[in-house]
Amino acid sequence: RYQSLAYNHVLDIHKQHLSPVMTAYFQKPLLLHQGHMEWLFDSEGNRYLDFFSGIVTVSVGHCHPKVNAVAQTQLSRLWHTSSVFFHPPMHEYAEKLSALLPEPLKVIFIVNSGSEANDLAMLMARAHTKNTDLISFRGAYHGCSPYTLGLTNVGNYKTKLPIAMGCQPTMCPDIFRGPWGGSHCRDSPVQSIRKCSCAPDSCHAKDQYIEQFKDTLNTSVAKSIAGFFAEPIQGVNGVVQYPKGFLKEAFQLVRKQGGVCIADEVQTGFGRLGSHFWGFQTHDVLPDIVTMAKGIGNGFPMAAVVTTPEIAKSLAQSLLHFNTFGGGPLACAIGSAVLEVIKEEKLQENSQEVGTYMLLKFAQLRDEFDIVGDVRGKGLMIGIEMVQDKMSRQPLPIEEINQIHEDCKNMGLLVGRGGIFSQTFRIAPPMCVTKPEADFAVEVFHCALSQHMERRAKSHH
Ligand code: PMP
Repeated sequence: RYQSLAYNHVLDIHKQHLSPVMTAYFQKPLLLHQGHMEWLFDSEGNRYLDFFSGIVTVSVGHCHPKVNAVAQTQLSRLWHTSSVFFHPPMHEYAEKLSALLPEPLKVIFIVNSGSEANDLAMLMARAHTKNTDLISFRGAYHGCSPYTLGLTNVGNYKTKLPIAMGCQPTMCPDIFRGPWGGSHCRDSPVQSIRKCSCAPDSCHAKDQYIEQFKDTLNTSVAKSIAGFFAEPIQGVNGVVQYPKGFLKEAFQLVRKQGGVCIADEVQTGFGRLGSHFWGFQTHDVLPDIVTMAKGIGNGFPMAAVVTTPEIAKSLAQSLLHFNTFGGGPLACAIGSAVLEVIKEEKLQENSQEVGTYMLLKFAQLRDEFDIVGDVRGKGLMIGIEMVQDKMSRQPLPIEEINQIHEDCKNMGLLVGRGGIFSQTFRIAPPMCVTKPEADFAVEVFHCALSQHMERRAKSHH
């Protein structure tokens, strides 16, 4: 037990001294004291299986011994100097990370957060194309800085305050909730329950959504596009997958109008999707710019933008760009250790194996409970979308979602939330998770849903 601050004292301090925009998960917020791999421990010594990884961030495990050892060595050697002074950890990292990306994505900028990475990618796209308009999906989350808020199209983050100009939302090709799409349109071991009229070699839903996308392109300023941002699978919007082939066709259309294509790999990168190291590879596309954060540092503040030599040059010709902490020795040493651990411990392979195993098990819950509308995802990025019933696909009311979420926590399982109505549970454990732990999570979820159905039945009588 960690004795420094009593639980109620923490709540008082939070209320008085921390900004009210810093909201908490759970009716009774968790006070966490310790973490080890996929486990977290609260102030009372209760343990939780962390199936949300501090919002899809702890990639190789909390306080992973190798990453900790590397951090401690670097901490006693040199823990800060800005990137204007060269130091081996930054150069070693640049070499290691670029080796993981295909040609011509070989030039790296290191920053501290996903928002900063996307800020920089926005500047790059505009500097390179000399165009202004940037396109992103409805439901996209690309950051919370005033610049990236223009790209973020999740309802709660929209504001009347003046934010970035020149950002155009476009329809999200959401094959579960959108007007088109069905059983065979997505790349997941679990297919949607919606009926599908697509032929095996042509996706009707993809064609419909592409028509909408063309419409956005045609209405942009002077039909000139600076860039198109897309998460390979949407995270904050509730693990939303696009129809197969959509991104490939969209990328071609954007390039035809002079724009560049940006893959936001903040949640999907570093092997989490199992079949591939990067999410864009699952769509068979080659972006011009790739942004990454979260899992890159296993929870240490670090992010990166990778691009082509030409685009990097356009940025350098347009402005001086400097970042005090970006590419610091401690972050870079940690980043290198994370890459080594992913390889040594075969964590991408584990994401594929345990993720697929777990997806199929969660899909059984969809077959058992009418309020589980969809189970989807790839590897260790899983969404469970809750509905009032499968026929209507109306979102389950927020109070009911809150209760199920809280019940899972009280049984020792932490999961995430997402979607416009907060209707989708998100499962994204550290990539070291095991099958017995996946079984435990499915069992807890089953139990929470059964309890919920009992409550529902009682309240209806
Ligand atoms: N892009 C995506 C896809 C994200 O999920 C997030 C964070 N949720 C960001 C960008 C922004 O990252 P950060 O919070 O590190 O600024």
